[in-house]
Amino acid sequence: MPVLLRYLWALPATVPGVLLAVLARASGGEWQRVDGVLEASGGWTARLLRTGFPFSGPVAAITFGHVVLGASAYDLDATRAHERAHVRQFERWGGLMLVLYPLAGLFAGLRGGDPYRDNPFEREARAAERRGWPCM
Ligand SMILES: [Zn+2]
Repeated sequence: MPVLLRYLWALPATVPGVLLAVLARASGGEWQRVDGVLEASGGWTARLLRTGFPFSGPVAAITFGHVVLGASAYDLDATRAHERAHVRQFERWGGLMLVLYPLAGLFAGLRGGDPYRDNPFEREARAAERRGWPCM
């Protein structure tokens, strides 16, 4: 898929990510752009990530389309391979990921697994994490 289409397809998820990145920046956080992805760390969103979510507990980072929010710059570095796998998932599934991801976690839980650890999107991201972040 051409690069522009990947960005457009993921845009429904990128937009809320940008809004959260703006909140992070406005509350003392920082931005950086790495390989076409906006990464935001610190600020209000860092507090949200450290508090966590019902399905996962505290997390170091989360991806919305082409935006990755991290608790800190260190967390962004440490989770880059994992979160880039999620970016590729958003490029593949577009805004549908906002529905597919929680549904996949729900079905994992209904099958007796862990809604976070056994979510197939997380399994794929952990596999990418083990392969590492390609160096150029
Ligand atoms: Zn993940």
